Amino acid sequence: MAHLDLDNITKTFNDGNDTIMAVDDLDVGIEEGEFVVFVGPSGCGKTTSLRCIAGFEKPTHGEITLNGEQITQKSPQDRNIAMVFQSYALYPHKTVRGNMSFGLEQSTDLSAEDIDQRVRETAEMLNIPELLDRRPGDLSGGQQQRVALGRAVVRDPEVFLMDEPLSNLDAKLRAEMRTYLQELQDDLNVTTVYVTHDQTEAMTMGDRIVVLNDGQLQQFGTPRECYYEPVNRFVASFIGEPSMNFFETSVNKNRLSTDTFECGIPDTVVSRIDTNGATLGIRPEHIEIDDSATVEATNVFQSRISVVEHVGRETLLYSPHPTETDEYFIAITDGRRQLESGQDVAVRVPEDSIHIFDDTTGEALYHSETSKQQMRI
Ligand code: ATP
Repeated sequence: MAHLDLDNITKTFNDGNDTIMAVDDLDVGIEEGEFVVFVGPSGCGKTTSLRCIAGFEKPTHGEITLNGEQITQKSPQDRNIAMVFQSYALYPHKTVRGNMSFGLEQSTDLSAEDIDQRVRETAEMLNIPELLDRRPGDLSGGQQQRVALGRAVVRDPEVFLMDEPLSNLDAKLRAEMRTYLQELQDDLNVTTVYVTHDQTEAMTMGDRIVVLNDGQLQQFGTPRECYYEPVNRFVASFIGEPSMNFFETSVNKNRLSTDTFECGIPDTVVSRIDTNGATLGIRPEHIEIDDSATVEATNVFQSRISVVEHVGRETLLYSPHPTETDEYFIAITDGRRQLESGQDVAVRVPEDSIHIFDDTTGEALYHSETSKQQMRI
């Protein structure tokens, strides 16, 4: 097991006259046996961070240490780290056995018998022993993914690095492999860094999540922390599907007001809020929909449902955003409710479920008690 530290990693690329900041002063400590997911939009620096850990890129500044030992300048072969790629990167002319044994033949002085035994044991563990004599071209995508995984596992590395390893699989197989990878990591207890742009993968697989944007660390926390106590508006918007709803408000003593509704806020928060205004955030599942369409309180507004999406257990409702033209806000309700597009409803924004963000910096100023309680469950 290994403890992996990224200390103030910066990586720039020169593209003609421009300097591209791919990773900007990234500081992350990954504990032994931890499964850490790097997540963020395209171009935020996930793969570059991973390639620095693997040794395929040298950081422009900063240090990488593995169990306290500097590995920043070491070549990839001299780091006991195995990488699984999105493309699988299997040798097409080699059998599965050949693909799995190749790394060991190159990097260890194990005997042919020992290598063969390790390959067979790993193939058993991954439920692919019957594939050992086949070539990659004769395998399904899911089977190729397991072989790519097997090639990493057989090396018995201190760290696994995985770069979007499930993105070529269909949705059902991807869900299966997510569970499988977590079980495998629990069994092997190998420190793992996993890169994805898919926040669902990050939420379901990570012990902790590194949320990146524009090369900069936004939040490093558990999935619950990132969901219930996002440090800023970017994290609040990126983590969670559908995304959190945001409303620009003005501040009126201890109330946040839009043209259509108001929310009371605790006195303790008022002093932290810019008097010019703040952004109110609320998760779709916390919005309450009343089909009587009666507005009986200041935190309730009337709205007309534009689109209803039945997704089984729950229903997603899209309605015109009360303050932003051409935008929707989204509410999630119980799938058994009978609601239709065109229907007028009353929308309640419960004051005990809101988040507040600074208008200028996007920094979170307040998370409701409900959020804090849900985080502790
Ligand atoms: P994606 O999800 O699309 O793979 P990413 O988050 O993994 O994106 P990176 O591939 O790490 O992002 O890229 C970060 C930034 O660095 C991007 O702006 C990218 O264009 C740039 N970049 C990455 N590699 C190079 C390179 N070799 N030369 C120049 N720019 C690069």
